[in-house]
Amino acid sequence: MSISVRLPDGSTLDVEEGATVQEVAYEIGPGLGSDTVAGVVDGTLVAREETLDSDVSLEIVTDDSDEYLDALRHTAAHVFAQALLRLHPDAKLAIGPWTDDGFYYDIAHVDLDEDDLKQIEAEAHRIIEADLTVDRLEMERADAIEYYEEAAPNRFKREILAEEASGEATVSFYEQGEFRDLCRGPHVRSTGEIGGFALLEMSAAYWRGDESNETLTRVYGTAFPSEAELESFLERREAAKERDHRRIGQEMDLFSIPEHSPGCVHFHPNGMRVRRELEEYVRTKNEELGYEEVWTPELNKKELWQKSGHLDFFGAEGEFYLWEQDGDEYGLKPMNCANHAYLYDREKWSYRDLPIRFSEFGTVYRNEQSGELSGLFRVRGMTQDDGHAFIRPDQIQAEITHTLSIIEELYGEFGLEAVYKLETKGDHSVGSDDIWARATEALRDALEERGLEYEIEEGEAAFYGPKIGLDAVDVLGREWTVGTVQLDFNIPERLDLIYIGEDNREHRPVMVHRALLGTFERFLGVMLEHFGGDFPTWLAPEQVRILPISDDQLEYANALADTFTGVRVTIADRSSTLGRKIQAAHDDRVPYMVIIGGNEEESGTISIRDRFERELDDIDPAAFKRALDEEIAAKRLEPAIIETWSDHE
Ligand SMILES: [Zn+2]
Ligand SMILES: [Zn+2]
Repeated sequence: MSISVRLPDGSTLDVEEGATVQEVAYEIGPGLGSDTVAGVVDGTLVAREETLDSDVSLEIVTDDSDEYLDALRHTAAHVFAQALLRLHPDAKLAIGPWTDDGFYYDIAHVDLDEDDLKQIEAEAHRIIEADLTVDRLEMERADAIEYYEEAAPNRFKREILAEEASGEATVSFYEQGEFRDLCRGPHVRSTGEIGGFALLEMSAAYWRGDESNETLTRVYGTAFPSEAELESFLERREAAKERDHRRIGQEMDLFSIPEHSPGCVHFHPNGMRVRRELEEYVRTKNEELGYEEVWTPELNKKELWQKSGHLDFFGAEGEFYLWEQDGDEYGLKPMNCANHAYLYDREKWSYRDLPIRFSEFGTVYRNEQSGELSGLFRVRGMTQDDGHAFIRPDQIQAEITHTLSIIEELYGEFGLEAVYKLETKGDHSVGSDDIWARATEALRDALEERGLEYEIEEGEAAFYGPKIGLDAVDVLGREWTVGTVQLDFNIPERLDLIYIGEDNREHRPVMVHRALLGTFERFLGVMLEHFGGDFPTWLAPEQVRILPISDDQLEYANALADTFTGVRVTIADRSSTLGRKIQAAHDDRVPYMVIIGGNEEESGTISIRDRFERELDDIDPAAFKRALDEEIAAKRLEPAIIETWSDHE
C-alpha cells in the first residue's frame, strides 16, 4: 500500500505505507535525508524515526528549521536529567518537555538548592563536552513497564506507560551514554550540538498538573546552538526581570491577586486610574469605529453556549464555570459573542442597516489551571474591550480597513510596533470555500490598502473564519498578543442570524470579532513591562506631585493643587526631608514634581522637575498647567515639557 505525503511546496510524493520521516527525506534527496533531524507531520513535531501510516502533510526538520531548537532543547532536558542522576541517583524523573524559552523537567525524591543547581549545570556541561551520541531504542511496552519496575523503578514512567501509551505495542527510549529515558523524541544527534546550556530556576509543580497529586520540583533551563545566543537570551531575560509587571505593580500599588481569588485581579485606586484612562481611550476609538456600547450579563444558562457552539468548539467544558440550579445548568460567560449575537437577533435588519456594531467592556471567566496562572498575563477573570460587528459579505474590506487604521494609530500611541499575520483556512472549517476565498481576499486587500507588511500563516485560522493576528512588539523586542480582528461564518449560521437583502430574501451576515487592547488585565501587564512602570503622563496614576520644602508652604501647595483641575495631583507626605520626598516621587514613577519653597511662594512661581531629573525654576504655574494639558491631550509617550522649554531658551 502506498500513501500520499504532501510537502511544503504543495507537491505530493507517494511512498510506501510505514516509511519513516527520514526515509521520505532520502526519497526527496540524499542530502536532505542525511541532514534530517526530525519531521513535522500534520503540524506535530515528531522524531525522524516516526513511521507514516496514512496520507499526511510533512515538513522535514534540519539544523536550519525553526523546530530544530525544540529538538535541541528536548535533548538539553535529557542532559539535565542525566547530570541530575549522576549527582543525585535517588531522584525520580517525571516529565521533561521543551517550552518556548527552553525546557523543564519535573522531578521527585530530591531536595535541591542553588548550589546543587550549579553542580548539576557543571555536570551537564561535561556531558555536552563529551559529545555523546543520542540513540533511539524501541521496546515492547510490557518490557518497558518491567524496566521501570525492576531495573530503574519509577512510578511516573509506569503511569505514562499504563495510560498515555496504553494503546501502543512498542514504545521508544532515548539513550545517551549511561542515561536512558522513555521518550517519543525528537532529539538532535548528539549532546555536543548544544552550544549554550543554562539552568534558570526552580518551582513547585503537581504531577499531571493536578493539585490532588504529589508535589514535584520543576527545574527550568534553556539551551541554544551557540554560547552567543545563550548570552543574549540571558541578557534579555535579566532586562525583562527588571520590568516584571508583578513587582512594578506592587511598587506602584496598582493591583493585587490575593489568595481568596486566585487568577482574579483586584484593581487598587492607582490601578483603576490607569484602567479608566484605558477605558475612556477605547471608548473614543469605538465611537470612531461606529460601535454602540452595550452591557450583557456574566451569568447565563449553559444552553446559550450550546447553541452558539462555544461549548463544543471553543474548549472543553472544563474551561467553563458551570453549575446546576433548579434543574437548569448555569455558567459564567467565557466570552461575549453569544450575548451580542442575541442582541443582533432581537431585531429584523435590512441590508441598509448593516453594519450593526456592539462594543462591551465584558468581564468573562475561564477556568485556567492554578499552575498556569501568572500575574496579569494568565488570569481566570478578565475584562475584554470586546466588540462585534455584523456586516454584509461585501462590507468586509471596508470594515477591516477602517479597524486596521484605528489599530495602527493605537499601537503608535503606545509606542508599540505591530506585527500583522494573515491566518488562512485550515483543514477543518465551516463555511463554503467560496466565502473563505472571498473573505481572505478582503482581509488581504485591507492589509494592502493600509500598506501594512504581513506574514501569511497558511491553514492557521480557527475553523470559523480567517483572521488577522496582531502582535505588539515592546521596547525589549518581545511579542505580545493583545488585540485581534477575526471573521466568523459559524455563529451566524448556528444562531440563524439574518438580514433582508436588496432582493428581499434572507441573507447571512458575517460576524467580526475584534478587540483593540485585548483585556485590561493583560494590557496593563504588557504596558507595565513595556514602559517599566514609567507611564506616559496621560496614563500615569499620579501625574503631578507637589513637594513643599517645609510645612510653611502647605497653604500655597493646597492653593496650587486646586488650580490643577483635571490633573491627577497630590501633595507630598509632610513628615520628611525634601531629598526623601524627591526620592519617593521618583520611586512612585510620578512624571512631574512641583517643588515650592519660600521664594516660590513669595513670587507665586514654582520649580518643576521631571522623572528624568531635569529641572526648571521660576515657572508660572498657569503656563505649566497649560503645557501639561497639552501633553496629556497629545498622549505624548514621555514627559517633554522641560525639554521643550529648555530648548527654547
Ligand atoms: Zn524526552
Ligand atoms: Zn467574539
